[in-house]
Amino acid sequence: MALIKFVDVADQDAIFEGSGWDALVVVTADLTSIAVEEVALLADHGSKVDQRVGKSVTLLFAPGIAGGRLVIAPVLKATDEYEDVRVFADAAQQGIKVAKEAGAKRPLLLVNGIADQRYKKAEAVAALACGQALWQALERREAGAADPELECIGLLSGANNASMLTAIEAGRGLARDLCGTEPERMSAPAFADYCVAAFTGSGVELSVVEDRDILERDYPLLSAVGRASFAVSRHQPRVVKLEYIGEGEIERTYLFAGKGVVYDTGGADIKVAGSMAGMSRDKGGAAAVAGLLKTISMLKPKGIRVVAELGLVRNSIGSEAFVTDEIIMSHAGQRVRIGNTDAEGRLVLADLMSQLRITAHSAVKPEMFSVATLTGHVVRCFGGYTAAVENSVAKQAQVADRMQRQAATWGEPIEVSQLRRDDFSKIIDPSGAADMLSSNNAPSSITARGHQYPAAFLIKASGLSSHGVNSALPIAYTHLDIAGSATEGHPQYGTPTATPLVGLFNYIIDSK
Ligand SMILES: [Zn+2]
Repeated sequence: MALIKFVDVADQDAIFEGSGWDALVVVTADLTSIAVEEVALLADHGSKVDQRVGKSVTLLFAPGIAGGRLVIAPVLKATDEYEDVRVFADAAQQGIKVAKEAGAKRPLLLVNGIADQRYKKAEAVAALACGQALWQALERREAGAADPELECIGLLSGANNASMLTAIEAGRGLARDLCGTEPERMSAPAFADYCVAAFTGSGVELSVVEDRDILERDYPLLSAVGRASFAVSRHQPRVVKLEYIGEGEIERTYLFAGKGVVYDTGGADIKVAGSMAGMSRDKGGAAAVAGLLKTISMLKPKGIRVVAELGLVRNSIGSEAFVTDEIIMSHAGQRVRIGNTDAEGRLVLADLMSQLRITAHSAVKPEMFSVATLTGHVVRCFGGYTAAVENSVAKQAQVADRMQRQAATWGEPIEVSQLRRDDFSKIIDPSGAADMLSSNNAPSSITARGHQYPAAFLIKASGLSSHGVNSALPIAYTHLDIAGSATEGHPQYGTPTATPLVGLFNYIIDSK
């Protein structure tokens, strides 16, 4: 696995020639406020020769500076009141790309901060943005076609958070590899194998469910989605279970269900008119959860337990395919009428959540999440932002509000959506024959409340309805729809972002 390594650099003299570093990337909103005098002079001189310096990313020939390379990456619009910390990410990404293209192998990153609450994590966000910019697709790496990787990135901030950022970046790298890869290389069995390799020796307990009888017994809705895929052995579904138990007395338990639809044809409600391309990225939720566990396994936070179930399935089409109108019993005992076979993600998640619900019965302070590229509606509604939808228990505990604050600081902003009574009305089976209906039969993007009401489905189909605020065992549950945020750039083939890994990790660490 490709890995970006960050190194804390305490000695400010590292910026000079002969230190072993070979470029200095300065991320700054203002040339005049660069604290290191030699660098400020070079930048000032550079701006007199080339008026682009300070306005767009530039490489200055800088004798005396490490590698002779000074990259000035200006932070634009930092004082704009509607901007957020991602302005530092944007600048750092451009800066590190120029350093790499110039031939640097060991660049230093100097982030010139601004006294503004919005930017208190600017250095960390800039560093992680470098990781995002430098990631290269797994297929390209495996074909031997990748650019040489950087050896490491030196961090001059003095914050001493290089090991934390390296662990976050390792998790994000794993998540990108799992999410961004084409459907044969990252079929369900291959996804499971990739996880096995990634977690060997990590201290995370991992098991893979692959037996069809067990899948159909424990994950009946997921197995219905995968029914047409059983005919092809390399496409058969898998469930990957992960568990991390921190040292010391466990004070909190976090439970994650990740949607890993490795390819979504839509099933019998097939995706038409070119809307199928890019559907190998319908596994971003499972990928992000796997990545989160990777980060946690490296940093080993004490006092928490993290349990995850990843539902890996190909929504194939064929003579065995499940179809609309079928009524299938969920693991939690709800008879679900299928409204649209392209609304398969909620079916995959519901059984994973039912299993996690059982785990939660005996867990200390359980808190549950589902992470999924679930709906086109969330993209229509919020663009490239994650939506959080809470159950009553999570709302009372202000889970989404706290998560929103954390995520914004770390450059992964989320929107909080409300679950309302209308959402439960939408999952009533009109015939009365089944306990519930999985969805309407129209694209979510043209359905009112198209990303909120699936949370109502998930709560009822998974049995979480019995764990509301007035129950004997309330379970906080938050659904995260990342259909708009799991990738960036090109609509079908953009770069996976590993969202919401960074926000979730910091939420967990902050809540502890
Ligand atoms: Zn679908």
